[in-house]
Amino acid sequence: MTSRQRREILRRGSALAVGGVAGYALSGNAAPEASRTPFNVAPTFIPIAGGGEFPVRRIYCIGRNYAAHAREMGSDPTREPPFFFQKPTDAVQNVPPGAIVDHPYPPLTKNYHYEVELVAALKSGGRDIPIDQALVHVFGYTVGLDMTRRDLQRAMGDEKKPWEIGKSFDHSAPLGHLQPVAAVGHFAKGAIWLKVNGQTKQNADLSQMIWSVAEQISKLSEAFELAPGDIIYSGTPENVGPVVRGDVMEGHIDGLPNIQVKVV
Ligand code: MN
Repeated sequence: MTSRQRREILRRGSALAVGGVAGYALSGNAAPEASRTPFNVAPTFIPIAGGGEFPVRRIYCIGRNYAAHAREMGSDPTREPPFFFQKPTDAVQNVPPGAIVDHPYPPLTKNYHYEVELVAALKSGGRDIPIDQALVHVFGYTVGLDMTRRDLQRAMGDEKKPWEIGKSFDHSAPLGHLQPVAAVGHFAKGAIWLKVNGQTKQNADLSQMIWSVAEQISKLSEAFELAPGDIIYSGTPENVGPVVRGDVMEGHIDGLPNIQVKVV
């Protein structure tokens, strides 16, 4: 056997191994003996309006991006650089249009808050993305809720500890199906509101965002290398507040389907 033939056999062998692993992941069958993966972890997807699924890589959230909300959180809404936190990918809870999805009241909190937000989903990324190039990377948009255990967030903040437990827990990111930019365009203005049991709680305009989506992407890309599958929660307007079991939340942004979830 020539070395060239040996290389060809090795190449085919590795191609077969890759195919085997992919088949295992898709079928959910027991791992083949040769696999180095001992168990299956479900990937996270957001359905795309019109068909297909958007694979989620990371969830970024911007803090205090509306002046009146920054004030109600006790901070000065001058145009300081935006700050970001993350939620785990599997915090996603998909909310189909027209449905009312059950949303579990999380453990440990007695002050569970809604925050309605515009969510941008990226199809590409990079580092140090200029503002005027940023929107090229957006695949689509949807309405999201940045659900928050406010009492835990505040307690940790008071102690100068990470917010994690207040923001980054299971099911903390309900959102609607993604609407591709080709269908809905980009969002710089338009009403954003949230109702609880039909009563308006938050009501503002996207034009009141301190940092635009393009600026958010640009700033984020200075700190992190952005990539396809990243989604960005753009921050919430003022008048955040609590929900309890039985409450139905409805989130709205002009030009996107509403989302509805029921706290159970
Ligand atoms: Mn938020």
